[in-house]
Amino acid sequence: MCVARLLWSPELLRYDFGPGHPMAPARLDLTMRLVAELGLLDQPSLEVGDVDPADDAVVQTVHDPEYVAAVRRAATTGQPDPARGLGTEDDPVFATMHEAGARLVAASVDAAESVWSGRVAHAVNVAGGMHHARRGAASGFCIYNDAAAAVQRLLDLGADRVAYVDLDAHHGDGVESIFWDDPRVLTVSVHQDGHTLFPGTGNPADIGGTAAQGTAVNVALPPRTDGGRWLRALDAVVPAVVREFGPQAIVSQHGCDAHGNDPLTDLDVSVDAQRTAARWVHDLAHEVARGRWVALGGGGYAVVDVVPLVWASLVAEAAHVPLPPGLQLPAAWRHEVEELSGLDPAERLGTGEAEWRPWSDGYDPSDDVDRAILATRRHVFPTWGLDPYRD
Ligand SMILES: [Zn+2]
Ligand SMILES: [Zn+2]
Repeated sequence: MCVARLLWSPELLRYDFGPGHPMAPARLDLTMRLVAELGLLDQPSLEVGDVDPADDAVVQTVHDPEYVAAVRRAATTGQPDPARGLGTEDDPVFATMHEAGARLVAASVDAAESVWSGRVAHAVNVAGGMHHARRGAASGFCIYNDAAAAVQRLLDLGADRVAYVDLDAHHGDGVESIFWDDPRVLTVSVHQDGHTLFPGTGNPADIGGTAAQGTAVNVALPPRTDGGRWLRALDAVVPAVVREFGPQAIVSQHGCDAHGNDPLTDLDVSVDAQRTAARWVHDLAHEVARGRWVALGGGGYAVVDVVPLVWASLVAEAAHVPLPPGLQLPAAWRHEVEELSGLDPAERLGTGEAEWRPWSDGYDPSDDVDRAILATRRHVFPTWGLDPYRD
C-alpha cells in the first residue's frame, strides 16, 4: 500500500491571475520539477492522482450558491463584482477561474476522502490551501476555499472532530470563519500579527463562537520573528491543544510565505524551520489521529529559493522518505530553473537542523514572541483545562 497520495495535474497550473500577479503558477511548476528530479515520483510509497473540477454541489458544501453563480458570471462576462471580492487587485477575473478554483477543491476533497477511507495514510495537495476565501466572497488570491472543503468532507464522511493547522504567514481567516461556531473543528493559525499584515484578523482573543469556545486558536507573531522562535511558538501551542481536542484527522496548510525572502510578509522563518514544522505535524497526526493527515500548500511568493524546497520536502515527508537537511539539490533541476527564470537557485536544501528552545525552558517577558505566545495560551488554554504558564 502507498503511504501517501499526491494530487497533481498540469491543469492545476491554470489557476493563474495573469502576468505580474504574485500567485504565479511557476511556484507549482518549479515545485513539481523538483519533486520529479529528486526521484520522489518513483517512490513506491507515493502515488499520484489527478482530478476534474469539483461539481457545484461539492463547492457549495462551503460556499453560498449565489457566490458560485457570481464567480461563473464574472468569468463569463469579465465584469468585476467587488462586493464578492471578484475583479479586485488581489483577485482579478479570468475566464477559467471557476474551473481552476473548483479543481483545487476537488483535489483537496479527494485528499480528505483518501485518508479517511484508510487507503493511504497521508495526502498532499500543494496547489491547495486557499484559506482566505469566505463562504460568499473571494479574498487574498483565493477563489474557493479548498481547505475548508477538505475539512467539511471529513465531517460529512463521519468525523466528529477535525483539526486544521495553518502555518501560512497570513491568518487563516476564511477557514476560521466557516467553522467559527462549529465545535467539531479546531482551527489553529500561527501567523504574522494582523496589525501588521493582511487580512488584519487572527487576534489571540478570538477563540471561536459561543457554541465552540476554544476551537479557534490564534498565535499572532511580531514581524521579523525568526525560525527558532516560530518553532518555539508552534511547540508551545499547537500540540497541547490538538492533543486535548483529540481529532480523528488533521488538515494542515503549509503556506511558506513566512520565509525571510518572501516579498509579501515580514517574518523570517528558514526553510529548515518550515521543514521541521511539517515533520511535527506529521508526527502529531500519527500520535493523535491514526496518521490521517491532509497536507495543503498555500501562500509562498519566493518562487525559486523557497517554495519548491519547502513543498518538495513536504511531499517527501508525507511519503516517509524525508530529505536530509542540507541535501545538494539536483543539478538538472537547478539547470531547469536557470533556463526558466534566469535566476540562480539555491544549491542546497537549507543549512541544517533548525535550532529552537521549548517553552518549558521558561518565559521571557522582555521577548515579544514570548509575550505573543503567552497571550494565546492565556486566552485558549483554560478552555481546554491547560495551564497557560507551564507545560
Ligand atoms: Zn499567506
Ligand atoms: Zn506518516
